[in-house]
This record gives sequence, structure tokens and C-alpha cells, in this order.
Amino acid sequence: MATGGETTTTIKTTAQETDALRGIERIGAHSHIRGLGLDDALDAKNVSQGMVGQEDARKACGVILSMIKSGTIAGRGVLLAGQPGTGKTALAMGIAKSLLDSDYGVNGEGAGGSRKASLRGQDKSSNNINAESNEETPFAMMAGSEIFSTEISKTEALRQAFRKAIGVRIREETEIIEGEVVEIEIDRPTAGNVAPKVGKLTLKTTDMETVYDLGTKMIESINKEKVTSGDVITIDKSTGRVQKLGRSFARSRDYDATGPTTKFVSCPEGELQKRQEIVHTVTLHEIDVINSHTQGFMALFSGDTGEIRDEVREQIDEKVAEWREEGKAEIIPGVLFIDEVHMLDVECFSFLNRALENDLSPVLVVATNRGITKIRGTNYRSPHGIPIDLLDRLLIIQTKPYTEKEMKLIVNIRCEEEDVNMSEDAKDLLTKIGSETSLRYAIQLISASSLVANKRKSAKVETDDVSKAYNLFIDVKRSTKFMMEYSSQYVYNEANETDMET
Ligand code: ATP
Repeated sequence: MATGGETTTTIKTTAQETDALRGIERIGAHSHIRGLGLDDALDAKNVSQGMVGQEDARKACGVILSMIKSGTIAGRGVLLAGQPGTGKTALAMGIAKSLLDSDYGVNGEGAGGSRKASLRGQDKSSNNINAESNEETPFAMMAGSEIFSTEISKTEALRQAFRKAIGVRIREETEIIEGEVVEIEIDRPTAGNVAPKVGKLTLKTTDMETVYDLGTKMIESINKEKVTSGDVITIDKSTGRVQKLGRSFARSRDYDATGPTTKFVSCPEGELQKRQEIVHTVTLHEIDVINSHTQGFMALFSGDTGEIRDEVREQIDEKVAEWREEGKAEIIPGVLFIDEVHMLDVECFSFLNRALENDLSPVLVVATNRGITKIRGTNYRSPHGIPIDLLDRLLIIQTKPYTEKEMKLIVNIRCEEEDVNMSEDAKDLLTKIGSETSLRYAIQLISASSLVANKRKSAKVETDDVSKAYNLFIDVKRSTKFMMEYSSQYVYNEANETDMET
């Protein structure tokens, strides 16, 4: 076969990349986070990529990123645990951004979800389960409370979320060979046979001759195009389609454009064999939706996917397994982030347990700010409201409260992010407010104070503006105090209940 040069065209469809980005951009609260701010040795710089402090947790997240890259964490999960406002969601965003922006890849194994069938006969160590890159690694995120919907069951919501976090990189390869026909032999049809069954085609490319056994498709187009010896043709190796380009002397040095050939074809040596590789990366969930007859692909835009039948998923898993065996597809296990995981109930936790048992499962990152509390759907208490057997599977990363200095750095970054010009004194006041109330409240006051400053036609926010905003918008502590004081005047007041969240 000719060994002419190869042209490789790669078109990447990065649906989940844009999904992830869209998700991140919608959450303005974390738009200043550009990564985990780690150096090559995975050490956290005090302030980097919008991240401040929380060095141990950031370093631990960096290790998780490396594990995602090496695949050693397949079927495992991570719990980000810590007080409210200590940066758990920010860390998850840092992981997501690092996956999008770096060369991190994933090297997992096996198959997950209800896809036992897809594992049949599969070599789990086969290297078509990995992805050497990068920004295609899916990052799906949801809040625990999102599973409560009237449209679909809780476990279906989780199943969909898991499949949104598993990417399939589908490789379509077409090889086009170009050369001059030396000889074609097609067996004549025998009596009763409509089409000839076999044939042989000898093709001369620049440096050698190649013999092809003709398939029905090739014979059809050879007949249609009336290909004879001396013609220059192309063969699309994946479809078997033969196309006549002209006569061989079209390539001779003294070719005359007015000659008998209908079409001049330049056929430089380097282009005799062209390989086109088209790469699409989609998530298993996207394939599910597209193949779900009741929903159709439009559901991808509306998000209204409804329940997807098990048979559809099983068929897709089998198809994907087939593609993997043929080397046409790779699985890219991504990350599923579930914030407020304590909102899940015991049924969901048992689903997570099972889902993590599968050989191929996304890396599950969950976050909670709960202490020892009841597991939803039971009367049992456990740390973070998560059953012990699931907790035991999770690598726990603890986030700690910020020092005043760190809080001021975060306030500073947010002022820049929101394009607010604030005096140092005002930032100090905001930091003090943050440490007495919450970081989140202090961050919210930035834009409110800026509007107050605008009102008095000042481009710079001063302490008075912050004080005014502080009085206009009260924080949770003041609101609760007020309610306790006037509890008897509220409708349906149950202030004496012992399990009130404060
Ligand atoms: P909760 O438990 O209430 O959900 P959380 O721990 O998830 O809180 P975040 O939402 O991540 O807290 O943090 C609150 C705000 O502070 C966000 O705007 C976040 O981006 C910012 N923030 C938190 N930690 C950091 C940090 N280390 N560096 C920069 N910004 C941070």
C-alpha cells in the first residue's frame, strides 16, 4: 500500500466542556476562581489563581487531580467537609477549572452505572479506556436538593448525573487512497445472480502497486463511474466508495488542460493517502437522550429529559463497548460534584454506594457543612448526615475557617473581580464584618456598598458606604435575633422547637 504523507484533521466537539463552563459562569460567586493555585510540586501558594489560604485542602485537591490523571481513584469518592463559607464549592470549582485549563487527563477502567453488559468480554486494562488529555474530561455538578423533582425519580436523577460525568470520545477515521487503476477484474454475474460478487483491483500509487479485493460497494461505484484501467480514482476505505477523478495522464508533465480529461487532479506524492480523523466527545447522558425515542435530541437543550428507559441505556452501553473493542471509542471518566450532599436520603446514599462499586465510575466529589445529624429518611444520626458505609469509601478533605488576613485577601480579590474601587479602610471594615458574620455576607456587601457609593456619585467605596449597606441588608445573626425578639408576632411560629437550625 502506498505510504504517502498523511493529513490528519481533528475536529473536537466539546459539549461537556461548554456545559461545564456555562455552569461555572452562571455561579458568579466563584467566577474569581481560576484553578487550585498549585505549583508543579502541588504546593499551594498563599494566593494564586484566585484562591486564598486553605493550603492543605488545596494540596489534597491537587492530589485528587493527579489521581484523576493516573486513574487510581476510579470508583472512589471525595468528601469536602467544613463550616459554611470555608471554600468547599470554591475548591470544587478549582478542580473543574484545572481540568478545563490544564493537560490533566484521565485513565480509568471498567464500566459503570447499569452497564454490566458493556463489561462482558472487556479487557479492563485495555488502553482504550483512557484519554491522554485534557479539557474534554466532563465535570458535572448538582446540588443534593436537585434530586427532588416530580418529573423523575431520585435515583434516575442521580443516574443521569453520573452519566453526565462520563465522556465518550468517538473517533471516526476515514482513509482515502488515491492512485491510478492498473487493472480491474470483476467476476461476471452467474445465472440468477444480479450483481457480481467478487473482483480485484490493482491500483498504482506513486511508489508501488496495491491489490484490492473488491466489495459490493466498490463494485457498485466502479460500475457507476465506469472506471477503467488508466483512470485516477480515490477509494474511501471506510465506506468502500470509489470515485473517478480523471485519466492518469492528467498527472504527466506535459499535461494539456485542453486535453481529453474532464477534470485535472493534482496528485502530489504526499497526498496519495489521506487520513481524516474526526473526534467527537459526548457524554453517555447525551447519547442516552439522543437515542431516547420519547425525548429526542431537543431535550438536550430544554434539559427536560424525563426518565430514560433501562433498555435504552443497556443498548447504548453495549454499543459503546463494541466501539471500544474496535478502537473507535474511548471512555473518559470525569467528575461528578454533588454540593449539599446531606440533602440526599438513605435511598440515594445506597445508590451512590452501588454506583461507586462499578469499575468505571466518575470521581465523585461531595460537599457538606453539616456536623453530626440525622441521615435523611431514617432516625439514625451520623457524621455529616452521611451513612458510615458510604463515608468509609470517601477520602475526606477538611476545610478550616479563615483568618482575618485571609478574609481580607478574598475581599480584595472579589473587589477586583466585581470591578469595585474600595478604600483600604472600607476593606478592613468589610473584613471585620465578615469575621463577625460570614465571608459570604461580606462578599455580598461589596456590590451593595458600591451601589451606595454610586448613589452619592463617588467612584470609590468608603467605610460609610459599607456601613450603610450593612444597615440596609441584615445578616443571618441579626435576622434570627430579630425573629426571636418578636417571635410571638409571627404566623405559625415554632421557635420553641429544639432542632431549629441556628
Ligand atoms: P457552604 O458550606 O455554605 O456551601 P462553602 O464552603 O461551599 O460554603 P464557598 O461557597 O466555596 O463556601 O465560599 C463562599 C465564598 O467565598 C465564595 O464566593 C467563594 O468563591 C469564596 N471563597 C471561599 N474560599 C475561598 C478561597 N480559599 N479563596 C478564594 N475565594 C474563596
